[in-house]
Order: sequence, then C-alpha cells, then structure tokens
Amino acid sequence: MRKKFVGGLRFPQDGTGDCHKFTTGLAAHCRAAGVRFLLNTEVHRLEASAGEITAVHTSGGELSADAYVVCLGSYSPLLLNPLGFKLPIYPIKGYSLTLPLLDDAKAPQSTVMDEAFKVAVTRFEDRIRVGGTAEIADFDLSLKDKRRKPTEFVVNDLFPGAGDLGKATFWCGLRPMTPDSVPVIGSTPISNLYTNTGHGTLGWTMSQGSARLIADVINNTPPEIDPQGLSIDRFLH
Ligand SMILES: Cc1cc2nc3c(=O)[nH]c(=O)nc-3n(C[C@H](O)[C@H](O)[C@H](O)COP(=O)(O)OP(=O)(O)OC[C@H]3O[C@@H](n4cnc5c(N)ncnc54)[C@H](O)[C@@H]3O)c2cc1C
Repeated sequence: MRKKFVGGLRFPQDGTGDCHKFTTGLAAHCRAAGVRFLLNTEVHRLEASAGEITAVHTSGGELSADAYVVCLGSYSPLLLNPLGFKLPIYPIKGYSLTLPLLDDAKAPQSTVMDEAFKVAVTRFEDRIRVGGTAEIADFDLSLKDKRRKPTEFVVNDLFPGAGDLGKATFWCGLRPMTPDSVPVIGSTPISNLYTNTGHGTLGWTMSQGSARLIADVINNTPPEIDPQGLSIDRFLH
C-alpha cells in the first residue's frame, strides 16, 4: 500500500453524506409541512402567453401556479427550449458501484479521490461507493459493463478486501453540465418562470444553497448568495 500512494491533499473541512437518506428525510419533513408531491407525473410542456407562464401540462392534467421553477437537471432544455431559449445543458453520464463493507480496517474512513483515474471512493457506515466516469451518450441510461471494470479495479487496487465486489450494485446517472460548469439559477425573461438547474458534478453539494437562492429570488428578498452571473441571462446574448 505504501507504494500506491506517493502524495495526497487533505481537505479537513470537506464532508461526506448519504444523499438518499438526506432527500428522503427532507421529503418527509416537507410532507409534514404541507408540501404535496405529484410522483410519477410527467411534465409535457409549459404554456406561455403575454410574457407569462399560464399553465404546465402534465400526464396528470393541467396545473397552474404563481411561480414555476424548472429543475429537471439534464432534461431542462427539453422544456425550456420550445419557449425560445437555448439552454446549453448536456447530460454527462456517470457510474457508481456500491459494495457492502467487509472489513472496516481495510476500508477508507472518509472520501478519497483518485486523481489518476478520476474516481471517488466514498465510505458510508456499512458500504463503500466508487463513483466516476464521464460518458457522452445523450440520454442513454444503459449500464455498460466496460464502465464497471475501471471502478472495480480502483476499489480493489486501493482497498483490497474492504468491500464485497460480488454483492455490489452498479448504477448510472446524468450530470447536467453547463459549458462553464456553473449552475443556472434565477429569473428568466418570462416574469414568473425561474430556473434551478445545470449543477453538473456537484448538484447535491450545491442543493441547499441553490434552493435558498432561488427562494430569495422568487420572494424578492435580498439573497444571501450573490446571484450575479448565475441566471440564464449569460446564455441569451
Ligand atoms: C456517478 C455520479 C456521481 C455523483 N456524485 C456527486 C457527488 O458526490 N456530490 C454531488 O454533489 N453531486 C454528485 N453528482 C451530481 C448530482 O447527482 C447532480 O448534480 C444532481 O443530481 C442534479 O440534481 P437535479 O435535481 O438538478 O437533477 P436530477 O437529479 O437529474 O433530477 C432531475 C429530475 O427531473 C426528472 N424529470 C426530467 N424530465 C421530467 C419531466 N418531463 N417530467 C417530470 N420529471 C422529469 C428526472 O426524472 C429527475 O428525477 C453525481 C452524479 C453522478 C452521475
């Protein structure tokens, strides 16, 4: 092992969390506070008239609201571009492998980034997650075996015997990338239409700050986070 690592950077203020636990917990809090979730409902299109959104057409019928926030990740351009925008968000596919922990002593104690393979090895309580890969494949969500091998190799090479590769689950997702790697948060030229999208590789990390910012913008209260350069405006000229 000594030969494997020739150097590293330590970021003591960085942290690791379980995004599934966070989002399901948050949803439960929201429900208790009166939020209504329409699950398994597909948004088909936004209807605009006289510079305003007047309705959203969904598989569950037509809905209307005071304000509309587009937050469909990589799919956001499909909804916005028919309204005349050219939102440059592209899906960059990534993969992860999650292994049940076998031996705590052999496992990483926090997150380790392998800059040679551009792979992150994350430690959860009883699992190890290896994530990485940037694949350009449009909206294809198929799990490709050739992408599994490098992640298996890295975790086995750096932390042999730490996790059970035989019981690993393989997953893929789309990172909504913008050309400048900055999310698109704020108002739009349509008065009641807002965006909170394009978070690329760090959508969970930025989720709470982004939500705070978009809430401040919609409520017209001075935002804690400087909104300069974040809105869709930067792609309109
Ligand atoms: C392998 C991998 C590892 C990652 N690791 C990290 C990490 O360690 N830290 C971090 O911060 N981020 C990480 N990310 C990035 C993070 O997952 C994204 O930035 C984040 O998911 C973006 O959130 P979002 O809600 O904007 O979009 P998404 O998570 O893509 O959610 C958009 C949702 O909109 C839904 N949708 C789309 N179109 C419609 C429609 N027409 N009607 C109804 N619903 C629709 C989709 O089904 C989806 O559920 C990782 C991504 C990948 C792929």
